Amino acid sequence: MPYQWPADTDFALWELDVVDRACPACGRMMYICDHRYRRLHTLEGPVQLVCKLNHCPDRDCPGHAKTKSPELEATIAPPSWAIGWDVFCWIGHRRCSRHMSVPHIQSELLDDYAIKLSHDAIAKYIQRYQVMLAARQQDPEALRRQYESVDEIILSIDGLQPEKGHETLYVVRELTQKRVWFAEALISATADEVRRLIAKAREWAESLGKPVGLWLSDKQDAFLTGIAAEFPDVAHRYCDNHFLRDVAKPVLEADSHAKVQMRKKVRGLRKIEQAVLKQHAAETTKSVAEDDPEATMTVVVGPADTPCPEADSASAVVLDYCAAVRGILNSDQGGPLQPPGLRMAKALNDVRASLQRNLDAKKGGSQKSNSAAWPAASTEVWTKSRPNKRRSENTSRTSRRWPRPSNLEWKLAPIARRSSRH
Ligand SMILES: [Zn+2]
Repeated sequence: MPYQWPADTDFALWELDVVDRACPACGRMMYICDHRYRRLHTLEGPVQLVCKLNHCPDRDCPGHAKTKSPELEATIAPPSWAIGWDVFCWIGHRRCSRHMSVPHIQSELLDDYAIKLSHDAIAKYIQRYQVMLAARQQDPEALRRQYESVDEIILSIDGLQPEKGHETLYVVRELTQKRVWFAEALISATADEVRRLIAKAREWAESLGKPVGLWLSDKQDAFLTGIAAEFPDVAHRYCDNHFLRDVAKPVLEADSHAKVQMRKKVRGLRKIEQAVLKQHAAETTKSVAEDDPEATMTVVVGPADTPCPEADSASAVVLDYCAAVRGILNSDQGGPLQPPGLRMAKALNDVRASLQRNLDAKKGGSQKSNSAAWPAASTEVWTKSRPNKRRSENTSRTSRRWPRPSNLEWKLAPIARRSSRH
């Protein structure tokens, strides 16, 4: 279905000409015979392309019946797409590199670039991006160029389970260039199937004309037999990470126990959030019924004439801190060298230090307000214009990262500065 543009869309007009105007059949100078109008989204805003189409003026020339499009058009967007390459790459990168969900990508596109795309459209573009990416990754010519200066290849194989309960994805990587060679989902992963992958790796290495110096894996039986069969003279070592993980098991058990203790201690996020939301609701009511004195009494810690948006922005910072802490408590990232519990402890300390810096800034900055509690510091405005982008990046539920405490301070800084000027 063609894209529905709102009637008041303000398009930038880009006119494109054919640069090489010699007829490909007879070499004559070609004429403009038609125009093609296209509208598309770019990261710079909506664009209307005016493509001047050329053809050969000689009716008897085969170049007469065919039109030539401006060369630049394909570098802006592929035929009949509603988005340019820049938006396409933006979507693909968010999905493949940052693992953002389709709804998350959709809301960021809308928030940051005012680009409105349906779930289906985004899913379709992601699929095309993956096809292009896979084609590029497996392009033998590109691979040969990359391995020109490599003397010896080091290969690894491992099974990953991107989603629990699904088939295992077997990934063959080359470690000197840190490159995934190929990956295949194997439903049963019999020794024969695994060996087929290892044979494929041998074919790749042979086509590059480079010797394989070493294989690394977790030494599952299927890997042992497959590699021994396909690479009889190549050493096969334990992967450091698996090895370390096994060695570190007792440490990780203690680490996991520490995590449980920390989670027990850091509680009450939901209560804080509910209180903030309730306060926010009360504020909204207040702005509706401005004369009700009791309503104003309840929540405002700062100056009594604080208008609504200020409390609003303060609430947002509190909610961001809650999101940060929740993200920290839910994170399972880490490995034997960076146990998740240690990461958690460090991150929680960062939050505590951040809160303390806010309190210190408040004490030093504002003499007027005698409340030491930091919500008082946040009754001032933090400028709404700029942080939109950061906010959506930081607070989205689907994001794996949590808001950095330092970012939250960055939001609070103007609040504190303003309050010191009172
Ligand atoms: Zn011609």
